[in-house]
Amino acid sequence: MAYTKRFDGRKADQMREVEAKVGVVPRADGSAMFKFGDTIAIAAVYGPRHLHPQFLQDPQQGIIRCSYDMISFSVTERKRPGPARRSQEISDVTARSLEPVLLLSQFPNTVIDVFINIVQADAGTRCAGINAASLALAHAGIPMTDLVGAISVGSLGGSVVVDLTKEEEDYEEDGEKAATDIPMAFTLRDKKISLLQLDGKVKPEDLKKAIEAGRKASEAIYEIQKEALRGLK
Ligand code: UDP
Repeated sequence: MAYTKRFDGRKADQMREVEAKVGVVPRADGSAMFKFGDTIAIAAVYGPRHLHPQFLQDPQQGIIRCSYDMISFSVTERKRPGPARRSQEISDVTARSLEPVLLLSQFPNTVIDVFINIVQADAGTRCAGINAASLALAHAGIPMTDLVGAISVGSLGGSVVVDLTKEEEDYEEDGEKAATDIPMAFTLRDKKISLLQLDGKVKPEDLKKAIEAGRKASEAIYEIQKEALRGLK
């Protein structure tokens, strides 16, 4: 059985309503909000600042440190506060997805801290977090070669669809999980992949389709991010 009609009626290549805004945390050096439908991420950037303890410093370049967390009330079943394996993993992949566009060699011995909080979660939070972080870094004036745009693409019952909701992530056929979640990020001008994760199984041809769908969606995200930086939204 193919998943042809989406639960919320969107077209296969249609993202949820997307919104982006910079300057949402006035005391940070840079900040942004990024929203995919009911998923809302806020990112705040501090730095570059001297890195302590000293042995962590790199005299060749600065480092980026991301800290992703979902607020307890962001999901219907209260999320236990504090660090967890999932948030550690997402923090790490977020930093790696952003690193390629940052000119870190200009800031030896320093750290750029990026705090990402998910205030409302309905799947795709790591992608919303990366989009918010990319915007917040640009808003902070950190020298960057490009922005990064992230989107989760799914393969559901034989169809490739962009920007999965939690309901879609949980899609089952014959009592078995039938959704594959493929979060990905692109450098927006160069169109290079800076994140590709896969939760589930996918045929090689569907993976290619998913990456193409993701690339297309990332172009729309780029336009929204640029608009937010221009202060239009
Ligand atoms: N989720 C939840 N509680 C948790 C972790 C996740 O309810 O402790 C939900 C939340 O809606 C999240 C979704 O599961 O967006 C999918 O989580 P996943 O780990 O796949 O990451 P995401 O898609 O958010 O990047």
